[in-house]
Amino acid sequence: MRRSCWGRARKNVIVIDEGLPRNRVTHESHGFLTRDGIKPDEFRRIAVEQIRAYPSVRFAADIAIEIGGADGDFKIATKKGDTYLAKKLLFAVGKKDRLPEIEGLTDVYGKSAFVCPYCDGWELRDRQLAVIAKGERAFHFAKTILGWSERIALFTNGPDELSDAQREELRVRNIPLHDAPIRRIVSEDGMVNQVELEDGSSIPCTGIFFAPTLAAGSDLPQALGCELTPTGSVTATDALGKSSIPGVYVAGDIATEMNQLIQAAAMGAMAGAGINSELLAEAWEARGQGTQS
Ligand SMILES: Cc1cc2nc3c(=O)[nH]c(=O)nc-3n(C[C@H](O)[C@H](O)[C@H](O)COP(=O)(O)OP(=O)(O)OC[C@H]3O[C@@H](n4cnc5c(N)ncnc54)[C@H](O)[C@@H]3O)c2cc1C
Repeated sequence: MRRSCWGRARKNVIVIDEGLPRNRVTHESHGFLTRDGIKPDEFRRIAVEQIRAYPSVRFAADIAIEIGGADGDFKIATKKGDTYLAKKLLFAVGKKDRLPEIEGLTDVYGKSAFVCPYCDGWELRDRQLAVIAKGERAFHFAKTILGWSERIALFTNGPDELSDAQREELRVRNIPLHDAPIRRIVSEDGMVNQVELEDGSSIPCTGIFFAPTLAAGSDLPQALGCELTPTGSVTATDALGKSSIPGVYVAGDIATEMNQLIQAAAMGAMAGAGINSELLAEAWEARGQGTQS
């Protein structure tokens, strides 16, 4: 058993990480100033190397499977059989992408098919793009992707779930709408070149944006009683990432719809400050009562 809790602030921290970050499928990461174009695993390697300079932070390549206790006295059990004691918790468990079941999509995912134009739109700019989504999301996605390429076609992979007004808006803007089920994505070395439809047509394209279904990276925040937003993120009750459960903080994708590395890092820094100020306030009280912990 080990006491956990913040490096530069001279707190003992245990980082329990299964090591499956959401962007691991990509070859390049974008939008994090000073690190544009870096490979995600190199980004993590540098981060871990720099954190290791602070001896009170340790890493466990493990999965947290159960958490009990309450503020000041949490108990975390891991898959490898370790138990950690912690005064405070920070959930930075991310989100998982569930891909639509389309043959050939996994071959191109992270290479020429992406989920976020802010992350990968620049690389696909001005290409002939397939946007794969349904309903309101498809409509919003099509409008957004137009910011990176004028040459887009919308594929709804079955009933489009759009309103007549939305169909008309797409039509007057010359955005082709394909509602036949997708048979498969045709690609070579991860680079898409066609979308084949069940109606027998084949539409050329050199890039894809699609809408995945997002799930929480772990059920633990919910199991501990953290409140969730209607979209499945953990609710933060203040700007520092305090959850609805005392002593529990959240940061990164699990707590926001703006899924970007720089945002996740900033949220982590805020949560770190929040946790540290709680610990400092508690230590101050304990010192006043002569019961320093
Ligand atoms: C294809 C793709 C490309 C992207 N490209 C970019 C880009 O170019 N630029 C950009 O800014 N953003 C990009 N993103 C978004 C970016 O990946 C996320 O915003 C970022 O990874 C969020 O960081 P996080 O720490 O919240 O979660 P993650 O990076 O997903 O990390 C969560 C970690 O928690 C671990 N974990 C979960 N549950 C447990 C548990 N119970 N016990 C132990 N460990 C656990 C996971 O294994 C994982 O290592 C991309 C996303 C995708 C899907």
